[in-house]
Amino acid sequence: MLNTFTLSDFLKKYKTNEDCLEEIKNIIYSNGVKCKICKKITPHYKIKSKKVYSCQNCGTQVSPLANTIFHKSSTDLLDWFYAIYLITQTRGGLPALELQRMLGCSYKTAWRMGHQIRKLMTDEEKGLLSGDVEVDETFVGGKGFNRIKVDFTERPKEVVMGMVERGGKLRAKHIETTGKWALREQIEKHIDPKARVFTDQFAGYHQLRKLGYSHYSVNHGKFQYRKGDAYTQNIENVWSHLKRGINGVYHHVSKKHLQAYVDEFTFRYNNRKSEDMFALVLNRVVSVRRK
Ligand SMILES: [Zn+2]
Repeated sequence: MLNTFTLSDFLKKYKTNEDCLEEIKNIIYSNGVKCKICKKITPHYKIKSKKVYSCQNCGTQVSPLANTIFHKSSTDLLDWFYAIYLITQTRGGLPALELQRMLGCSYKTAWRMGHQIRKLMTDEEKGLLSGDVEVDETFVGGKGFNRIKVDFTERPKEVVMGMVERGGKLRAKHIETTGKWALREQIEKHIDPKARVFTDQFAGYHQLRKLGYSHYSVNHGKFQYRKGDAYTQNIENVWSHLKRGINGVYHHVSKKHLQAYVDEFTFRYNNRKSEDMFALVLNRVVSVRRK
């Protein structure tokens, strides 16, 4: 991660809640604010002690925070910005307890903020994965996930399916089962039919040729990890990082929130070459609207 936006830069740029509101306004209305009464872009000025701007010609007000994750929040915008900064500067995520400690807020507030900020950290999933794509599934969570001795008789854990372009993008999905249909649904939704697909020899992937993909498999059972192009090293690296994050950073991720964590992880992976993760995440307020 080559971060060019340092903490020092952050502190110089955002000193007050007004600085943050101005930034959100500039992101949401990147071409200027169009007044709905004047029906054109007009100069707007901020109303003192309110989070709104007013049209200079007719006085109509606009709220840049409307429908954003900051809407109706009693937390200072400066704290929100600081939280986004802290979260985007870590590699594997920031637990709510850490955020609570750093912002001096309640655990509940920190948890909610983390949850909202995670909504900004979702990949937009433009187009299909193409070229050489490695596909695999892994098991995470479940009872005893943190135990050193794994009890193989216990309930199956949650399944995450991953598809990664070599040198490119990752898509990862929490799926119900490792059944043929569940795998097929994700493959057809995310992978270009012209792609070369690399998997292990799990029976669920035997259908790939029938679906029209060029399929190559590697037999892990026979200690055959690499056979020419047929390897799945990229997706295996993804799993080891994902598990390290869930185990080491979050300690536990419930079934309900697993996809949100996987999305955050995917977002970090897909933007691993970004030099300003903070701006990248903040700019997502335009497309991530509150429901
Ligand atoms: Zn106006």
